[in-house]
Amino acid sequence: MFKKSNIPKSDSETGSKCLKIRAHHLCCIQGFQGYGYSPAFVANMRAVIADIKASPSRPLELVSECDAICASCPSKRECTAQVSVNSRSIRNMDLVVMEKLKIKEGTIMEADKAFRLINSQLANASDIEDVCGACKWRQKCLWYLQEER
Ligand code: SF4
Ligand code: SF4
Repeated sequence: MFKKSNIPKSDSETGSKCLKIRAHHLCCIQGFQGYGYSPAFVANMRAVIADIKASPSRPLELVSECDAICASCPSKRECTAQVSVNSRSIRNMDLVVMEKLKIKEGTIMEADKAFRLINSQLANASDIEDVCGACKWRQKCLWYLQEER
């Protein structure tokens, strides 16, 4: 699925530095088509995706806290502090994904392996609803809208 997405090609430097990524963002990355919370968020999301695409063996640390994508989000402070129902709901998405992938907080794996894993383990509509059911971006998200699930 990752290869079929509309992720822009990038000539950015490849690197092996571990990148912190929220577990549910493995789904969001694949569904991204340019929508987001702010222009800065969208630009950063594009850059993170381009970096991963340029270096598919890059190690990702899978977490349930703010990550490289959250870095430019207007809600970063709220999500970091976990002070709202919304931020706790978002963290729960990460925990659901980790449970379904049978991985622990902080698991490190290569990006292409992580995408293969999530696309094989979250294979039916029920799994997708468990993760994305409360997300306001569902109708803009290619990963959520995929027909072949
Ligand atoms: S529907 Fe929302 S949570 Fe689910 S993958 Fe898409 S953007 Fe992420
Ligand atoms: S809403 Fe929260 S979890 Fe989602 S990108 Fe923004 S800071 Fe990160």
